[in-house]
Amino acid sequence: MNEFDLIREYFSWPSEDSDVVLGVGDDAAVVNVPTDQQLVMSTDTLIEGVHFSAQADPRDIAHKALAVNLSDIAAMGGQAKCFTLALSLPEIDKRWLGEFSSSLNELAGRYQVSLVGGDTTRGALSITINVIGLVESGSALKRSGASPGDGIYVSNTIGSAAYAWWQLNNDQKPSEENLERLHRPTPQLELGRALNGLASACIDISDGLEQDLGHILDCSNVGAIIELEDLPLDEELSDHVKRTSDYSIALCGGDDYELCFSMPKKRREWLLKRTRELNVRTTRIGEITKSLGMEIKGYSNNSSSYQHFK
Ligand code: ADP
Ligand code: MG
Repeated sequence: MNEFDLIREYFSWPSEDSDVVLGVGDDAAVVNVPTDQQLVMSTDTLIEGVHFSAQADPRDIAHKALAVNLSDIAAMGGQAKCFTLALSLPEIDKRWLGEFSSSLNELAGRYQVSLVGGDTTRGALSITINVIGLVESGSALKRSGASPGDGIYVSNTIGSAAYAWWQLNNDQKPSEENLERLHRPTPQLELGRALNGLASACIDISDGLEQDLGHILDCSNVGAIIELEDLPLDEELSDHVKRTSDYSIALCGGDDYELCFSMPKKRREWLLKRTRELNVRTTRIGEITKSLGMEIKGYSNNSSSYQHFK
């Protein structure tokens, strides 16, 4: 099987999007962009041995590679449109490619994002996805818009993926749900769209709440007070915290790909209405302050609490 057969077999899917004028098969893709919209673009790479192990399920690798990119579009309040895939493979393994391709196709189908091109090379296993989204001109959610008095919110639960990872490394069995969160994160695209026009700043949590909220604070030149008691934790992590009083996984555990955003108080009713419609949970965990820095209430900063992640 040569490179062209491989592309035809595994990565040439018909696009249902009439804006995709040319997809896989030419020198480059051609995609229509509505006149009142802007492109939102993001790239992420996953490398074997760094981001996943040699034994990892190809379906999980494909899902995660696309999901983390879609999550960046979600954090910008954009709508995912299309993506390219640069794949470096040590060998042609048809079983691996079949599973990788079908999982990628499934997630792409769920969010109607078209695979429009890519590159295939021989080398150590790595996957780079470049995703392109659209946003109404001037309306992209940035890290820089938070103002003192805004509420700080997160979607669903935080620390769930990291707790699953911690359990795997400590001879404990994670819940099925948390394993799924770890291996097949859900990009919060619908929520991101809904936040466009509501949130003042937004980021997706890939490196942990403390670090990622820190980016919003830095970019917005503000500080925050966080209430530890208000962090939305799943049942397993909540039990762990009760047993150990250790909030480090909740605060510093990454890989959840939930959204963290700030929003003026007066928009709270709107947020509740929209999230009810979308069936997504959002929780207010604190407030943006004028004084810089992050004050975490209810947390005694003892150094051992951070050791798993730093
Ligand atoms: P070029 O020589 O112009 O870079 P390639 O031979 O690399 O073209 O690729 C041929 C076509 O297949 C292009 O349209 C490219 O976008 C597409 N392609 C290559 N690899 C992939 C891949 N892994 N997934 C999707 N499309 C791919
Ligand atoms: Mg090429």
